[in-house]
Amino acid sequence: MGGTFNPVHLGHLRAAEEIRERLKLDKIVFMPAATPPHKGLTDLASFDDRLEMLRLAIEDRKPVFELSDLEGKLVPPNYTAHTLKVMTSGPNTDHHIYFIVGFDSFKNIGSWHDYRSIFTMASLAVYSRHGDEVEPSGLLETLDCTLGPGSVWAQKDSFFYRNDLLPVYFLKPSLLQISSSSIRLSLKAGQSIRYLTPEPVRQYIAARGLYLKTRDKNKA
Ligand code: ATP
Ligand code: MG
Repeated sequence: MGGTFNPVHLGHLRAAEEIRERLKLDKIVFMPAATPPHKGLTDLASFDDRLEMLRLAIEDRKPVFELSDLEGKLVPPNYTAHTLKVMTSGPNTDHHIYFIVGFDSFKNIGSWHDYRSIFTMASLAVYSRHGDEVEPSGLLETLDCTLGPGSVWAQKDSFFYRNDLLPVYFLKPSLLQISSSSIRLSLKAGQSIRYLTPEPVRQYIAARGLYLKTRDKNKA
């Protein structure tokens, strides 16, 4: 499960928990993006801070939830296609990878670097997100636009398949109406973020004074 995690919140964790159950996954690996190509740098906490917040957030769910700093070690910019290539070309290539992504991100996948290869290296687990609710027909539209027509819907197991690519699952976890951006806004406004993110994460943010000011990306 990739993302900016700026900061991680209960929406991420609850979605991960439900998707793991639904797809019977052995574990969920949270992988923060070091330099997200699609996001401006304003308000982005350092990679190390985002990693540490994630570590705190999943501490009590190990080893089912795991943390990876892989993207921090790769040469920027981080492209999902490149990260997956590294993940599938190492010594531990016997496992099957699911790339978990909210439909809000997935609908732009056609603009991602080498996007077609993503569908050959991982099954996709696309889920509907609050404010961006989608049905299988909407996912099919995106698939057709991105890959060309040919995806077939397997209703029973709720995935799309096609000859040359790995399946794309459609998921509908319960939707907690929480986003990292609304948490950052609350912090700037001096409002409480309790019960939106695990308590150790809230305390880390408070101790470090994260997200209080808008960082000017033109300044060091
Ligand atoms: P921002 O508001 O800064 O965009 P975000 O809350 O959307 O942050 P991201 O780090 O951008 O979080 O998201 C990482 C992944 O988690 C994405 O696939 C996104 O769709 C998903 N996600 C984010 N918030 C939720 C939520 N409340 N419920 C389920 N999934 C979420
Ligand atoms: Mg987002």
